[in-house]
Amino acid sequence: MLSFGNLIGGQWIPAEDARANVNPSDTNDIIGHYASADASAVDAAVAAARDAFEAWSQTSPQVRHDLLDAVGTSILARKEEIGRLLAREEGKTLPEAIGETTRAGQVFKFFAGEALRIAGDAQASTRPDIDVEVIREPVGVVGLITPWNFPIAIPAWKIAPALAYGNCAVLKPADLTPGCAHVIAEALHEAGCPSGVFNLVMGRGSVVGEAIVTHDGIDAVSFTGSAATGARIAETCGRLRKKVQTEMGGKNPMVVLDDADLDIAVPACLNGAYFSTGQRCTASSRLIVQSGIHDAFVERLSREMQALKVGDALDAGTQIGPVVDERQLASNLDYVAIARSEAAEVIGGDRIDGPAPGFFQAPALFLGTDNGMRINREEIFGPCASVIRVTNAEEALAVANDTEFGLSAGICTSSLKHARTFRRRVEAGMVMVNLPTAGVDYHVPFGGRKGSSYGAREQGRYAVEFYTTVKTSYISA
Ligand code: NAD
Repeated sequence: MLSFGNLIGGQWIPAEDARANVNPSDTNDIIGHYASADASAVDAAVAAARDAFEAWSQTSPQVRHDLLDAVGTSILARKEEIGRLLAREEGKTLPEAIGETTRAGQVFKFFAGEALRIAGDAQASTRPDIDVEVIREPVGVVGLITPWNFPIAIPAWKIAPALAYGNCAVLKPADLTPGCAHVIAEALHEAGCPSGVFNLVMGRGSVVGEAIVTHDGIDAVSFTGSAATGARIAETCGRLRKKVQTEMGGKNPMVVLDDADLDIAVPACLNGAYFSTGQRCTASSRLIVQSGIHDAFVERLSREMQALKVGDALDAGTQIGPVVDERQLASNLDYVAIARSEAAEVIGGDRIDGPAPGFFQAPALFLGTDNGMRINREEIFGPCASVIRVTNAEEALAVANDTEFGLSAGICTSSLKHARTFRRRVEAGMVMVNLPTAGVDYHVPFGGRKGSSYGAREQGRYAVEFYTTVKTSYISA
């Protein structure tokens, strides 16, 4: 059986304790055993990163560009093979998994270019013969903590800017999906990443994650994951005066107005609610539908939802892969029971058999719901969506905003006036018109408001805000 260790100070450290990485489409398929480290591995990784920092922060941007570009090339060249690994360890369908892998490669290439575009700002002084310049410097050693649901894209969109802007990094991937992070570590190592600049420490959140967040040698923490963990990390970092960025959950609204085109609205909701098994922070979990179109929309959406093919992520034709593990499946089934107890009408949602023993669930649609129900307040993170009926666009907007989250929001309408009003007034970091709430570009900012995000935006040029710090210099001859 294959065993995968951590990368610390440029050395692969064999796993002493390890955890089996299981395919959720077929629990007989063990992908490998991956290290489950303790806090001493974090100490070693942080020490290696600190040793490497001075030299790396002074390395020419061309060197940083070339490293990240080579990693991007390597990931893109292997996208089919890495995509298969991703589909096996997380359960995304193969086309989605290859798409995510492609995005990870593109992210490395984007930030390769950004390494050459680190810009300061020359300002006039109020005094004579003084030059004032605002320069950007790396933050130092950054801790990167990532979730299981985008196991290659999210590590990529943290590692690439961290290194591009001259930081050293310690990555702790989710323990359910360490394989894709291990692939990135291999690509960096093979592309000649200097020892200690990038370190991989796999293990449990309560052990390795905690050790990273609280370590004296970590200057900043970039976290993506659940709201509960993110809030704790932000609090700890505030107390320890560390820079922090937390990207968390969503309860994303998709408004469908009477003037929507059903040929646009139904596919957008089907995609936003159910693709990737609903395991997306940007999933459309609240479908807020105006009364005039409600019945036609529900009839068509429920018919098309029930026709979705659930199965092994690697099988051609599968549209919805498995839920990631037994615990997440149990939680989803609990929410289906809660929906029934809250008097919603439930279509689908049962555990079903797959071609092999795995964690398969039929997509669920909850009808006749109101926004106060638990199923509409809490992030379910599975293939489950609710329909909330409203009478007009103003009520739809009020319901959309009535949530503790604020990640992505969408509207389906043929009215430019309604689209513009929604775009201006919706409380979300990303807004989609006639498009699913999920599905974003890799080169523009990603993130939300309220309980969904805290700190600077990720992705695109905006990532510079988190991974650099500004120094204002005054020079007189
Ligand atoms: P999670 O919070 O359980 O875990 C996320 C990461 O934090 C994992 O690596 C985990 O091991 C680690 N961790 C757990 N406890 C920790 C602790 N005490 N200290 C430090 N690290 C700790 O989340 P998950 O179940 O892996 O991911 C699903 C969640 O992620 C969902 O809520 C989803 O909405 C969210 N998510 C958000 C975004 C976004 O960009 N907004 C993107 C993807 C996923």
